[in-house]
Amino acid sequence: MLTPGLSTDWGAEDMHLLTRSTVTDYTEHLDRATGLVASRVASVRQPFSGASRAELQRLVDAVDLESAGVGTAEALREVDGLFLEHAVWFHEPSYAAHLNCPVALPAVAAEAILAAVNPSVDTYDQSTVGTLMERRLVEWTSQRIGFAAGDGVFTSGGTQSNLHALLLAREWALAEHGGSRAEVLPRFNILATASSHFSVEKSALILGLGDDAVVDVPDDGEGRMDAAALAASLAAIRAAGRIPMAVVATAGTTDRGVIDPVDAIAEQCEAHGVWLHVDAAYGCGLLVSPRHRGLIRGIERARSVTVDFHKSFFQPVSSSAIVVRKPRDLAAAAWHADYLNPVENEEPNQVDKSLQTTRRFDALKLWTTLRAIGADGLGEMFDTIIELAVQVGDEIDADPELELVGRSQLSTVLFRVRPAGVDVATQDALVAQVRRVLFESGRALVAKTVIDGRPCLKLTLLNPTTSAGDIRRVLELVKDAAAALVELQDVEVVA
Ligand SMILES: *Cc1c(COP(=O)(O)O)cnc(C)c1O
Repeated sequence: MLTPGLSTDWGAEDMHLLTRSTVTDYTEHLDRATGLVASRVASVRQPFSGASRAELQRLVDAVDLESAGVGTAEALREVDGLFLEHAVWFHEPSYAAHLNCPVALPAVAAEAILAAVNPSVDTYDQSTVGTLMERRLVEWTSQRIGFAAGDGVFTSGGTQSNLHALLLAREWALAEHGGSRAEVLPRFNILATASSHFSVEKSALILGLGDDAVVDVPDDGEGRMDAAALAASLAAIRAAGRIPMAVVATAGTTDRGVIDPVDAIAEQCEAHGVWLHVDAAYGCGLLVSPRHRGLIRGIERARSVTVDFHKSFFQPVSSSAIVVRKPRDLAAAAWHADYLNPVENEEPNQVDKSLQTTRRFDALKLWTTLRAIGADGLGEMFDTIIELAVQVGDEIDADPELELVGRSQLSTVLFRVRPAGVDVATQDALVAQVRRVLFESGRALVAKTVIDGRPCLKLTLLNPTTSAGDIRRVLELVKDAAAALVELQDVEVVA
């Protein structure tokens, strides 16, 4: 409702809404926005400006959010100087920290479309063909997994997909075992390795399981679940009068990039009648891989699977899905609301399968990407990265100043820097400090983690245009930073 006294010719233009009368503004603003991004992408030469947090806080605080509107052109100029100037650029070859990918162009174009049309894929009557396109893509993913007639839904990310899968597993296990929630929930266990994603533990908490619900299954020494140890854990849980609610196999661990032996794990789950969830948030790119698909053999025996298209399918955040082998399992998360899905209505409402209500049409991005590049094209891109990681691993292994920590099956590379004459405690202390020095320079971004109780540096390679030479330059920066820290005797050895 317009405030009385406002001039009656206050139009859509003044309200800055996208309507029939503002299509010219719409194209101008989008041209301006893409122009700003294009010039940044063309000119950035390092993944981050290196500005300090204090400086960034000052810039953010200096913007007066209470002032009168400055217009879109000015607001975008300001965003350019603030956000684009100091953003982290995942397409830069010296960005090698976390599981962030450069984005596929067709997906970026599709993102602009879905932002403008703004459908919500909760009910059919808010999305129509969008719902059908999302369902088709879920079906496609399900077939790639090898499910005969699976189903699922797009989610905001792997964390949500894992939570959703474990919710379905909990409801299934409750139905299987009978008894009241209050009595049975505290007896449920989820089995996973210590390398599984933290969202598994977090889900257990949200799902009201006991504090020690997640049981660590021993691994093979390299981060992969030991299937024989799983059998022993399952037997021990039963013997203790507890109930194995689900086993989570990780197809691509976040740090080591290794894949649990899904086939052998499925064998145990089938023998014990336990729900198998495969967290393929990272490894889902293998579903389209021409050369490495075999690494996830057995995934079709899972009851549920998490896929993160915003990791190995080069999609902009967010783009993820949970896929289940038996469509009826999804019903456990359905809820009735008169305003959404009246009973007389036979329409396919995705809200019945989702934990969200209003939900982005993220599927449009993957749809456009698949049509533009094709599944093999996407898989080739992921394969290229896997092969780059092998090469980088070999180079680190051959370098006396570096120490390779394990071997990834995907595209992480774990290592330490060991300048000549430096002891183990100093090598450990160098990890965090080298990472910080690089971050503060903005010239290269690497991650750090802890493996078998010792810190190490981590590269996560997700850019198929990055060359071994690019990574060699990152490694040189790592060695230079370590040498400078040692030289300055600036390494604080922390116990
Ligand atoms: C990234 C990741 C997740 C979480 O996914 P988000 O999209 O970040 O929520 C879950 N599991 C694994 C193995 C991951 O690597």
